[in-house]
Amino acid sequence: MTNENKIDLREFRNTLGRFATGVTALTAEQDGQIYSMTANAFMSVSLEPPLVLVSVNHHANIRKILSATKRFGVSILAEGQSALSDYFARRPVPAPALRFVERGGMPVLDGAIAYVIARVVEMYPAGDHMLFLGHVEFLEWTDGKPLLYFGGQYYRLKAQGGQDKTTPPDELALLRLSRSVRDRAER
Ligand SMILES: Cc1cc2nc3c(=O)[nH]c(=O)nc-3n(C[C@H](O)[C@H](O)[C@H](O)COP(=O)(O)OP(=O)(O)OC[C@H]3O[C@@H](n4cnc5c(N)ncnc54)[C@H](O)[C@@H]3O)c2cc1C
Repeated sequence: MTNENKIDLREFRNTLGRFATGVTALTAEQDGQIYSMTANAFMSVSLEPPLVLVSVNHHANIRKILSATKRFGVSILAEGQSALSDYFARRPVPAPALRFVERGGMPVLDGAIAYVIARVVEMYPAGDHMLFLGHVEFLEWTDGKPLLYFGGQYYRLKAQGGQDKTTPPDELALLRLSRSVRDRAER
């Protein structure tokens, strides 16, 4: 790469930080010990077979564990779990209350809005990170709202147009019905 093409690290972070993501806590387990790390480099890769990918820094403790145990859990954090995200990113915050629960034979974080458990099928060294491609073995999700990350800050989800897209259609129909009953009673 010539000097003219050299990418400034700050610019790289600032530019890629424009890509809004959810936040996950990766989990791994070795000899009865649980390891967790905050990660937003998580993506779905393939439907058939069901594959997901996580990108983990070579210096992260969980990288060595994942390389050995070849299984990981992904907890997609809920909007109220930013303290957990900070804590598992090793930021200087007071330790929050931690509660791991078991899903698909792996420890995951209680209160997350979705869980994915995967078996590592390929590992690809990529610069200062290792990409872990995982074959999905277990899935679970709820209707809760996600924690969002954008430009180095946390955000909450707000649907455009005022309608809360996370409210299931059945519940919306019930809400409309109860409103029209109430409106009629008030007339
Ligand atoms: C929003 C966000 C997204 C990120 N995305 C990525 C990403 O995609 N890839 C990436 O490589 N890095 C990412 N990072 C950075 C990464 O989270 C940190 O660099 C991380 O702390 C380093 O991982 P580690 O395995 O060395 O963590 P460690 O230092 O081993 O663990 C992090 C902290 O969690 C504590 N901890 C871990 N497990 C437990 C447990 N079972 N019980 C109690 N405490 C525990 C540790 O004591 C430590 O304080 C992200 C950071 C943020 C804020």
